[in-house]
Amino acid sequence: MSKLYIVPTPIGNLEDITLRAIRMLQETQLIFAEDTRTTNKLLSHLDIKKPVHPFHMHNEHKSLERSIDKIKANSHTVLVSDAGTPGISDPGFLLIRECIAKGIDIECLPGPAAVIPAIVASGFPCDKFVFEGFLPHKKGRQTRLKLIAEETRTTVLYESPHRLVKCLGQIEEFMGPYRKVCVAREITKMYEEYKRGTAAEIKAYYEAHPPKGEIVIVVEGAESKKSKK
Ligand code: SAM
Repeated sequence: MSKLYIVPTPIGNLEDITLRAIRMLQETQLIFAEDTRTTNKLLSHLDIKKPVHPFHMHNEHKSLERSIDKIKANSHTVLVSDAGTPGISDPGFLLIRECIAKGIDIECLPGPAAVIPAIVASGFPCDKFVFEGFLPHKKGRQTRLKLIAEETRTTVLYESPHRLVKCLGQIEEFMGPYRKVCVAREITKMYEEYKRGTAAEIKAYYEAHPPKGEIVIVVEGAESKKSKK
């Protein structure tokens, strides 16, 4: 019986790998990785030697059938991405969907994903939230921003450091200068930083301190029409 295990890996701090994730990597016959070099570095840190095959955005559609054949030829295959949980703004979804369609068992281990510490530490309500991932760069960006402006639940966005100030400017433009945000930067890493305030305040801060590293923007939900009355 073949099975695909989806194994989350650390988003910065290597101590965040779980004991079960390490055991899965030790026991597997084959690893599919977004970038084989990144995964080989993690494996060598864990002292694990396993065959690692590429499975990334560029070959995801093309290599689907070949990947399914490989999974079927083994009893235990692992899918990892460069960091965090595969499928969350990372390759994986197509392979997982195809495995389910072909009757191959899948199991996803719980583990690191930047969205979770960012929303929990933002201080905004996290009992329900919307995960938007990366906004489109051009076409469709304004439509998403208008929808987020109306959204009453907390929204989580992934953003690159060089687009952070522009994105905060758009939050200010579409949602007003008083909409609160929390920017979570370099979560679990040496320069981890959380900046909380209005979109205008946080934009001014990052204009003065151009950011580096990885970034999550958490946007406070809009006031519901009921509570405005
Ligand atoms: N699969 C990953 C996950 O589970 O979170 C996400 C991968 S996506 C390609 C990379 C984006 O995730 C970054 O651009 C950033 O928005 C966010 N991210 C990943 N690691 C992060 C970290 N340590 N601190 C802040 N954001 C992070």
